[in-house]
Amino acid sequence: MPYLTAPEELEDLLPGEPAFRANQLKQWLYQHPVLDPTEMTNLPARVREAFGSNHWPFSVEVEQSSDRGRTRKWLFRAPDGAAIETVLMGYPRRATLCISSQAGCAMRCTFCATGQFGFERHLEAGEITAQVAFAMASLSKQPMEGSPLRVSNVVFMGMGEPLANYANVRETLRRLIEVMGMSARAITVSTVGVVPGIDRLAAEPWPVTLALSLHAADDHLRQSLVPLNARYPIDDLLAAVRRFAAGKGRRVTLEWTLMDGVNDTPEQARALASIARKIRAHVNVIPMNPTPLAPQKRPPDRRIRQFVDEVRRHGANVTLRDTRGTEIDAACGQLRVRSAAASEE
Ligand code: SF4
Repeated sequence: MPYLTAPEELEDLLPGEPAFRANQLKQWLYQHPVLDPTEMTNLPARVREAFGSNHWPFSVEVEQSSDRGRTRKWLFRAPDGAAIETVLMGYPRRATLCISSQAGCAMRCTFCATGQFGFERHLEAGEITAQVAFAMASLSKQPMEGSPLRVSNVVFMGMGEPLANYANVRETLRRLIEVMGMSARAITVSTVGVVPGIDRLAAEPWPVTLALSLHAADDHLRQSLVPLNARYPIDDLLAAVRRFAAGKGRRVTLEWTLMDGVNDTPEQARALASIARKIRAHVNVIPMNPTPLAPQKRPPDRRIRQFVDEVRRHGANVTLRDTRGTEIDAACGQLRVRSAAASEE
């Protein structure tokens, strides 16, 4: 499983081969990923065959496509049974990949399908990086009409809290930026609020984008949605976000999953706008993608528009994000929910 080996140590997988073979292999893994090792045309057959079915650190359990092919979603399965979800969304000038950093998640956010499963294990850096490489290979084999041929943006918004798996996420960032050549600015690390992790990320050399999943503008409401808030309340979070923004010179994003009758009131909109203004953050409002495991629902369209208008009227920069792939369960953890339900039938 070559992705589980650091790019600088690939020689160890090629005993008896000349040194330049490791470099050729590195190119195929990171610069021009291919779905099947038989496509690595400049490597001798003995090397390609040595990887064979072990090329990827997971197998494809489910592959789905929707939005006229502009959304592609995979449920991968690691040999130990860990489930990994990845979603690719094509736009006119970018192809954004949402990746998972953990199998399951320990944070237990009450509106999230993944949170209801609990924590399985951290994903290794190779398993996280391989999601990007797999999507790159899929895109080059089967392009999305009107979108770039390479993954241009990566967001850590799939299953798991990336800053709770810091070492592996850091190594993934290093591989994506320094080996694959992705722009750090095109990579977004999304956290539900692990303050020490935000500070560690601020000290890294790469100007990645930080997204804070806020979801509520006061501690009482936030604690009912995000249990981690008891450990890192909003004031502590905002102080960490300020430190990150100051250190990197980058604007932070506030993510707000909009839930019917929960955090869609004018009061929450005004309080959110006030926070966003203070820390000069951009707000992304994402209407809830309903999941069978959580009681929260998507608000009616009229209320969604009113909420966004209210945030904007109070001086914050706000974008209403589309909920891509609702017909293929594209919210994090939802494909896995279906898969588990199907296997119980
Ligand atoms: S929303 Fe994110 S941090 Fe919270 S339980 Fe789900 S995956 Fe974990």
